Amino acid sequence: MTASVAHKAQCMARCLWSMGLSLLFGLFLPILVSAHQVIRHELHVVLQPDHHTLQVTDSITLPEPLHPSDTELQYFVLHAGLSPLPLTSGVQLVRQPTATLPVPGDSHASAGGTRLPLERYAVMLPAGTRTFALQYQGAIRHAAPPQSPQDAWSMPENSGMLATEGVYLSGATYWYPRFDDELVTFTLDVQLPLAWEVVSQGERTRHERVNEATYVRWESPAVQEDVYLVGGPLTEYRQPAGPVQAMVFLRTPDAPVAQKYLDATTQYLGLYNALLGPYPYPKFALVENSWESGYGMPSFTLLGSKVLRLPFIVSSSYPHEILHNWWGNGVFVDVQQGNWCEGLTAYLADHLLQEQRGSATAYRHATLQRYTDYVGMHSDIPLTAFRTRHSAATAAVGYGKALMFFHMLRQQVGDDAFIKVLQAFYRDNLFQRVSFDALRRAFASVTGEDMSEVFQQWVTRPGAPELRVSTTTVQPDGQGYRLSAVLDQVQPGPAYRLQIPLAVSLQGQELAWQTTVPMAEKRLEFILRLPTQPWRVDVDPEFDLFRRLHREEIPPALTQLFGADKVLLLLPAAAATELKQGYRRLAQAWPQASSQALEIRWDQEIEALPTDRAVWLFGWENRFLPEVTTALAPYGVGLTYEGVRLNGTPLTREQHAVVLTVRHPRNPQQTLAWVAIQNVAALPGLGRKVPHYGTYSFLGFAGDEPVNIVKGQWPVLASPMSVLLTPAPGSPPQEAATQLAPRHPLISLPSSVPH
Ligand SMILES: [Zn+2]
Repeated sequence: MTASVAHKAQCMARCLWSMGLSLLFGLFLPILVSAHQVIRHELHVVLQPDHHTLQVTDSITLPEPLHPSDTELQYFVLHAGLSPLPLTSGVQLVRQPTATLPVPGDSHASAGGTRLPLERYAVMLPAGTRTFALQYQGAIRHAAPPQSPQDAWSMPENSGMLATEGVYLSGATYWYPRFDDELVTFTLDVQLPLAWEVVSQGERTRHERVNEATYVRWESPAVQEDVYLVGGPLTEYRQPAGPVQAMVFLRTPDAPVAQKYLDATTQYLGLYNALLGPYPYPKFALVENSWESGYGMPSFTLLGSKVLRLPFIVSSSYPHEILHNWWGNGVFVDVQQGNWCEGLTAYLADHLLQEQRGSATAYRHATLQRYTDYVGMHSDIPLTAFRTRHSAATAAVGYGKALMFFHMLRQQVGDDAFIKVLQAFYRDNLFQRVSFDALRRAFASVTGEDMSEVFQQWVTRPGAPELRVSTTTVQPDGQGYRLSAVLDQVQPGPAYRLQIPLAVSLQGQELAWQTTVPMAEKRLEFILRLPTQPWRVDVDPEFDLFRRLHREEIPPALTQLFGADKVLLLLPAAAATELKQGYRRLAQAWPQASSQALEIRWDQEIEALPTDRAVWLFGWENRFLPEVTTALAPYGVGLTYEGVRLNGTPLTREQHAVVLTVRHPRNPQQTLAWVAIQNVAALPGLGRKVPHYGTYSFLGFAGDEPVNIVKGQWPVLASPMSVLLTPAPGSPPQEAATQLAPRHPLISLPSSVPH
């Protein structure tokens, strides 16, 4: 999630690392193969996409049993309809009665929200037999994932596909026998149609075209959580990136696009090798998907056609997906204990790139804004409960709170130690499933500090601190001044232990006087001794703390409407018939959080705007438009019958779509938004695009698609975290805070790295 660019593709181009499936297995399987043990598969696969079928022989080697016995009973689960038969003499297979697995809503394995058809088998092995072979064949055919407006916040998922447009098989497809939540190593030999390519984890060791078929072999000696088989009619590009092979597979040949990604792969691998330790795989491949996606798998990423051609992806989502090879797809996540990898990846990719651009403060502000707007008291979860994002609220915690936690840890231990911790954590935990506790141990061992309390308050406790400043006084004190102030933590529950950053603007000083004060109780009275007279104090001016923001710290923005519990949407009864119908269709498909109560009415049906809920006004013809005009006045924006000028860009009634938010004129806690467009053809596109610009106050679009031409945030007019002190007699009036000391990014990127 980035502050400056919030776009559908970027939101979608997020990782899909392998979700642990022990949730499912715990329901009925006896644990015979331990989750810590490794099973080896030697798979030979013939793909027949025309018929949606595959034929497989799998030579399976189980780990040595802890307690050898005469015969051994194991259970595995396989996609339904594949009719497995043993090829090894003495091995018996018995199908078990359970036909389907109940699938949790947030699981990788949901098949269009219904049940994935699976079969469970018992396999009886003669004494001493550790390796046995199975043969199976059949069809795997599931619908492509739906792409609804909700997809802005969640990941469209596919349980498995095998068709002429491509193949997508993962552990969640159960296209190979899965015993438990085990780790695997594998070799994968695939026979496929002549013009096809397939990609899996690890290294490609065979690639040849013989007669009418292509033969490909992938090998993964490194342990993995899944076996992927992904591909289709693709054109391949590659170049060496040091010891690693950079690869690109495109559905439509496009050498310039391929070259851009090959070069970016080289650059980002170099960057993260230097920062964290060597990349753990022999190749990294970008694979163009047959549906719009943004998945990060071990040693490859699967991006949709539109996504990968958006110009900003190469320096936003792409490094995020590459970095997942260290976090999530290199060091695996013990998902039962909470998913730490999204926050760490977002911090070291998205936030790191914003630091290079000088916009890290705005990025953190937007992160806190999303948490404040989307996560209510009842929808909050601790980081230990975050598995994968399936809503704006879960993303605000699992990505946002977690990345702020890593930012605070970095402030606490310093940049050098922070980097050493990351390197040690990676080195010690590669190819293992670990929890936040492994991170705690890495921090504790590098710094020598006991990190239990800080991990406990941010990882296992839901919620966030809320700060207030009060009773600030200034007195002359010897040669200088004495500033005293009171800070309160006003959130429910116990105090957080915080290091509060403070910036004081002093008379005659070009840079602010900066310090941090420790706060361990709910109230802190502190005294600062200052060399010259202070005229302004800013608490946490660069948003270094994870905290719930004050309403006044957040400009009106679309997040406040998308995240609101109660929303009224008012359609313009006075609009022309065709436009009215278009607006009504748009309203019915309008994005909303699942917990939101959205009421749609015509504007003529109500007398006055309610003050107890967020309100969308649609249309230039809306009878409540004067309320918007009034509320725009503090920002110096004039709205006329002909149009409006935003950030210097003129938007006309006839040619543009306007989306803007203001504070409710009679209740500043509520937000009012106005959406207006005369071009009926652009309405569906507008509905798809607007949710991707959540943290913005205003937007302008042009054309039928429509294309965004202006976006921005209103300024924060008065923050309760800033206190303006009485100026000394005769001193010039000053309001804007003095500049803060420049900060250094975690690492500096060479100019060759796209950022
Ligand atoms: Zn991710």
